[in-house]
Amino acid sequence: MIPFLNLRAQYAKIQGQVEAAALGVLRSGHYVLGEEVSAFEEEFAAYCGTRHAIAVNTGTSALHLALLAAGIVAGDEVITTPFTFVATAAAIRYIGARPVFVDINPKTFNIDTAQIEGAITPRTRAILPVHLYGQMANMNDILLIAAKHGLAVIEDACQAHGALYDGQRAGSLGLSGCFSFYPGKNLGAYGEGGMVVTSNDEQANQIRLLRDWGQDRRYHHVVNGYNYRMDAIQGAVLRVKLRELEAWTEARRAHARHYSKLLGGSAVIIPQENEGSRHVWHIFAVRVEDRDGLRSFLTREGIETGLHYPIPVHLQPAHADLGYFRGDFPHAEAAANSVLSLPIYPELAEREVEIVAELAIQDVSVA
Ligand SMILES: *Cc1c(COP(=O)(O)O)cnc(C)c1O
Repeated sequence: MIPFLNLRAQYAKIQGQVEAAALGVLRSGHYVLGEEVSAFEEEFAAYCGTRHAIAVNTGTSALHLALLAAGIVAGDEVITTPFTFVATAAAIRYIGARPVFVDINPKTFNIDTAQIEGAITPRTRAILPVHLYGQMANMNDILLIAAKHGLAVIEDACQAHGALYDGQRAGSLGLSGCFSFYPGKNLGAYGEGGMVVTSNDEQANQIRLLRDWGQDRRYHHVVNGYNYRMDAIQGAVLRVKLRELEAWTEARRAHARHYSKLLGGSAVIIPQENEGSRHVWHIFAVRVEDRDGLRSFLTREGIETGLHYPIPVHLQPAHADLGYFRGDFPHAEAAANSVLSLPIYPELAEREVEIVAELAIQDVSVA
């Protein structure tokens, strides 16, 4: 049996440090924000190469606050991808703004920057690229288009902790960048967590206010804020785990190279790492013609796989009112029907990668 994710195996390796950190918080009497969270913010900002990091309770809240701080209001349009987790679009809609989707580049699964300018209208205010699966979108194009049209760029880096684009970290290229520490992410809390990083002082101040009821001092509320604060336990745990992140990312990268070597040249189409890009392999999504067939076969053989994502956001019932239809984004729709995520996590054994690859090849060569 090879699970899709094995968080217990990861926990076993860092158990002593994590339990000491959590116990320290339990005994401290301070459970929300506080010293551990501030220290984690400083360490995460340093890791991302930004002046500020503001810890929040989820990646979705990070996106919500980054959009609010960028001045997005109801009726504004934000250009993004339909091939993402639903949170990207949901955060835009929390404000009453409209997600305007642009199809993906089928080679990278990220927004097709050649189609962005065609989607800009007088109401467009921002571009929200998603660094899907752990590889950054074409930020060079995105930043040029944004500068030309006076748009803000907010990065959804919820799957891309530590990814690089021309040597620059995910989250550090736009006005702000948003991260999730959901347990299954490359850097995961033992509960929920999120972060906004930015080098813009004004954005940082505004996001700090918004995450904590809009207070500039206790019980003095200058804006209508939210309760989006990070728990102290998560801050303490994430400090421990941040120290492991580079080694974990290198292990993911080794697995990706191994998969690619074994699957290369077969009918299983492997994902690519772009030139000048460091992919952090949150997801290793292959493409095959009979995706559901391969998935059932691997399940029968005891190998768990994932689907990221089976329905693009523009075809989700919750977002039908946006007025999109099947056929609007053919590359996103084709990807949704053909991608299959194979197990890839640091604790996976090399032999397990081989077993998964051998079985996948066996299935597609029979088909
Ligand atoms: C996980 C994720 C989010 C949301 O993060 P949460 O912490 O679950 O709220 C947003 N966007 C993308 C691309 C994600 O993968």
